[in-house]
Amino acid sequence: MKVKVITVGCPKNTVDSEQALYMMKTAGFTATEDPEQADIILVNTCGFIESAREESISIILEAAQAAGNGARLWVTGCMVARYKDELAEALPEVDAFIGLKDWDELGRLLGNEGIRLRLKASARQARLRSSSYGAASPPLSTSYGAAGRALLTPPWSAYLRIADGCDNRCSYCAIPIIRGGYVSRPFEELLDEAAQLAAGGVRELILIAQDSTRYGVDIYGKRRLVQLITALADIRDLEWIRLMYAHPASLDDELIEVVAGAPKVCRYLEIPLQHSHPDILASMRRPADPRDVLGKLQKLRALNPGVTLRSTFIVGYPGERKEHYLHLRNFLREAALDRAGFFIYSPEEGTPAFDMRPRVRMSTALRRQERLAELQTDVSAGMSARWIGSTIDVLIESREGNNLIGRCHRDAPEIDGAVYLTGQGEVGSIIRATVTHADLHDLYGIIL
Ligand code: SF4
Repeated sequence: MKVKVITVGCPKNTVDSEQALYMMKTAGFTATEDPEQADIILVNTCGFIESAREESISIILEAAQAAGNGARLWVTGCMVARYKDELAEALPEVDAFIGLKDWDELGRLLGNEGIRLRLKASARQARLRSSSYGAASPPLSTSYGAAGRALLTPPWSAYLRIADGCDNRCSYCAIPIIRGGYVSRPFEELLDEAAQLAAGGVRELILIAQDSTRYGVDIYGKRRLVQLITALADIRDLEWIRLMYAHPASLDDELIEVVAGAPKVCRYLEIPLQHSHPDILASMRRPADPRDVLGKLQKLRALNPGVTLRSTFIVGYPGERKEHYLHLRNFLREAALDRAGFFIYSPEEGTPAFDMRPRVRMSTALRRQERLAELQTDVSAGMSARWIGSTIDVLIESREGNNLIGRCHRDAPEIDGAVYLTGQGEVGSIIRATVTHADLHDLYGIIL
């Protein structure tokens, strides 16, 4: 019995897919990359903005096309959480829609499917051997505590989701509608999961949530991210701890010092800022003082100039005028971020910004997005070049001919650049290298 899992969207969805795959493997399925070989194709959708929904639907239709004879097509994830009934009506080719993280429903379907496929297999056997009928399927465990994940990332790197949902309720964002309020995972459970992942070969642990910096506020009454990172660093086999999805409102001095200098912590911070102009930020219901944010980033850089900063911005938010756009251009020059992404505002039903006017014409938003990206390209190229001649640690992820390809502290998987090295080294190991040249996103060097 084979299953193919397709994940759309963010690393938090990847973790959901890993939990689903773990359940399927426990039920006797093996993973396959070939949709034609699969008895079940599970598409884990993303649904927080229009473009993600379009991508999810095209992937579902592709999967329906590719599915082999008699294969089941199951769809889950954020888009199902938002539009289950509409999807069921629009996509008759889908056999089952499973609620977001509805493990009981997945368990029930798997149970039935497991029995159906075993019956099918044993019937096939019976026809071959004309012997007696197949055994019952093994009991399914549905409680998914600690590890309970079949990693979809390389064995040396894994995400650790420290919380789910969000209480920030930014005016444009549908995630609180989809995933609900902020729920931190218990401290001990996270340590246990991390220890199991490390024992399984994980060297890089990437902390994720909708807002990682808020960790603990809901269940401990105070932020405990720094404490968590410090405890994770005590796990011997873990070598890198990378922090993603920081919120500017919760980036305090204690956390700045940890990112700048704590052992094992990658000198890397992914901190979505979304805009820089106070009026737009206030309308977005986000911290509205760009000087304060800039001050925090500069403090971080002052403590450690080698820290890599990545951010994302929304362009064309309702009411955005030319002066707001120009303000953001100046902010980008001053902030000198290593990397930044620019997304066109997507009006989302049920969010406060949905009814806001005036909307910015798409042509204007696209022009601003293009010009901001151009400006950032120059900034990023300059930030990359400053690494020439320096010594860095690189996590080797693959080999191409005489070249080794990996990531350093500057590179989160799937969204940042890579490091291309000449020399000898083991895939999955972290080795030291000297940077000889750089381009916009990538570094090149020699192994020491
Ligand atoms: S912090 Fe992020 S996930 Fe939370 S509401 Fe704002 S944009 Fe959405």
